[in-house]
This record gives sequence, C-alpha cells and structure tokens, in this order.
Amino acid sequence: MVTQEIDTPVIPRYLEILSKEVKIALQVQHRILLESRKTLNFLDFKEFLAPVVGPATDPGIKGAKQISFDYYGKSYKVMSSIILYKQALIRTFDNIYAFSPNVRIEPISNKKSTRHLCEFYQLDLEMRDKSIHDVMSKTEFFLVTLFKKVKRACNQLFEELERDFIVPQIPFPVLTYSEFFDIAQSMDYTISYGEEIPWEVEEELSKKMVEPFWIVDYPVGSRGFYYKENPEQPGTLLTMDLIYPEGFGEASSGGERETDVRKIKQLLHSTEENISNYKWYLDMLSVDGQPSAGLGIGIERLTRYMLGYEDIGNCTAFPKKPGMFSI
Ligand code: AMP
Ligand code: MG
Repeated sequence: MVTQEIDTPVIPRYLEILSKEVKIALQVQHRILLESRKTLNFLDFKEFLAPVVGPATDPGIKGAKQISFDYYGKSYKVMSSIILYKQALIRTFDNIYAFSPNVRIEPISNKKSTRHLCEFYQLDLEMRDKSIHDVMSKTEFFLVTLFKKVKRACNQLFEELERDFIVPQIPFPVLTYSEFFDIAQSMDYTISYGEEIPWEVEEELSKKMVEPFWIVDYPVGSRGFYYKENPEQPGTLLTMDLIYPEGFGEASSGGERETDVRKIKQLLHSTEENISNYKWYLDMLSVDGQPSAGLGIGIERLTRYMLGYEDIGNCTAFPKKPGMFSI
C-alpha cells in the first residue's frame, strides 16, 4: 500500500497562502492571466470554457494516472488534457484558447519534484489549418509580449524578489530530438532512440541556456496518437516541446494533429485504450476533421519561470503536490 508514503504539509496551506512568496506569485499570476487574455484577443483568438469531464481524455501522460468515475453507468474521465476537445471546437473558429484544468495523479516517484503538481492549468491554444511552424512563431510572439507586459506591470514585485527576469529574443533556438538524444548519450544515459529523454538531461541542457528553446522532430512512436507524421520527413512527428532556460525545463508540448481516422485507429489499437470511448472523436474526424495545430502551456510552470522560484507549490493557491494530502 502506498498510503504510508503520503505526507501532510508541515505548515497548513491556509496559513502558507498568507506568506510573502505565495502572495507575490498570485499577484504576478493574476497579471499573467490578464495579459494573456488581452494578447490573445489582439491575436484574434476566441476564449472558450474548457470541459472538465468527458468520455475520453489524453492517455499520453507519462506514468501519471487518470481519474475515472461512474457517470450514469458509463465510465467518464476527469480531463488530463483537453486536446481532443480542441480538435472538435477548432471546426467552429480559426483560433481558440482556454485555461483548462487538468488532473493527473503523478507517480509517487515525483514526490520530490519541484515542477510537478497533480492538479494544474494549461493555457491551451489551437489554430485551424496552420502548421507547427505557424504555432511556434505565434507562441514566441505571444510569450515575449506577455513577458514584457507582466515584467513592466509587476516591476516592483520582481525587485522585491531580486529576480532579474530577462525577456528573451525572438526567434527561440531550435534543436532536434536527435541532437537532444546525442546530448543524453554523452551524459551517459542509456536510453533507446525514440524514448522520452530523462528530465535530468532536459534540466542540464536547460541550465546552459539563457532563452527558451524548441525541440522538434520527435520520432514516430514516441508521442500520443494525435500527432501527425511529417510527410516531408517520414519517421518523425510534427510535434515540439518548448523548454525554459535556467534549469526550469519543459514549458509546453504541442504539434500538428493527425486527422486520418484509419491511422488513428491503428495507433489506438496498439495501446491499452478502450477504443469505444473515442467513438465520438473518430466519428467527428470522419465527418469533417479539420487540420489544426496547437499547444498547451502550463500556467504554474510559467509563473515559476518568471519568478525564478524553486518550488512550483508556491505558484498556485492550493497546490496538490505528488504524494501529499493538502487542500
Ligand atoms: P503535456 O501534455 O504532458 O506535455 O503537458 C503540457 C504542459 O502542461 C507541460 O509542458 C507543462 O507546462 C504542463 N504540465 C504537464 N504536467 C504537469 C504537472 N504534473 N504539473 C505542472 N505542470 C504540468
Ligand atoms: Mg510534454
């Protein structure tokens, strides 16, 4: 039984939310949310209210568990990501976004992690008929604008923390998965080509960088069934990660969506997923699946990077840290 390994916070959260560190984080986060909305409105994105539960959610969540529950006799899930639902709604508008709540019961091995929560928010973006490159350049513009505005508005708070946050230059550097893989091997990690690169490698590389950078060209099979294979470079997926510098690690994942129902079914069959839960999704794509691309940016991690905080638990009011019972 894992219950013995679960902790309770030393200081109750209702007291900790009064601390200077948390108060500053919540003020800066308020600005992040406000300026994100203003900038995305300027970029012609429509906000929608994200679904919280549904018959299917993102199964590709790296060892974390989903929450399933009985919904009038059917098995429903709490969203671990709204990717499938973005693909449905992008048929209505050109550009959409949502601040979507995600629940993932992270493995107990992430208990010491300072960047994992079991409940977090993603800023989810999706663009119709656009490529991975369109999403990358739009995201760079969005983030740099956001960083400038938040830095200006919260200048005094950054000074209080003595955080010298540097707004990065556009365009961000781009690395391929192969280059990333070679770095992992040179650090003596024994991984096979196509596997997720260990977090420690990402962190080491991130520490050497002064601005965010992209990782592209992940090999087929390394990621979720919803990413499209690159027709110009077979064997690689049109998917990317954005990594923060200074050791803060992964900021975002995304890519171009597969719309070929036959290919998706094949991939789903090779997983342990119950394909009947995806019926609506496959039906929707068969009727009028639209090409789209997008990504999700973790809000607590964005706050953590801007503030330079070690612990993500200080970047939200009610953090659910892995292996911890808290409010
Ligand atoms: P993923 O779908 O796993 O690539 O997640 C998308 C983004 O959400 C990541 O790039 C992070 O910014 C954020 N994220 C994912 N998992 C967590 C977690 N356990 N705690 C906090 N943020 C997370
Ligand atoms: Mg990811």
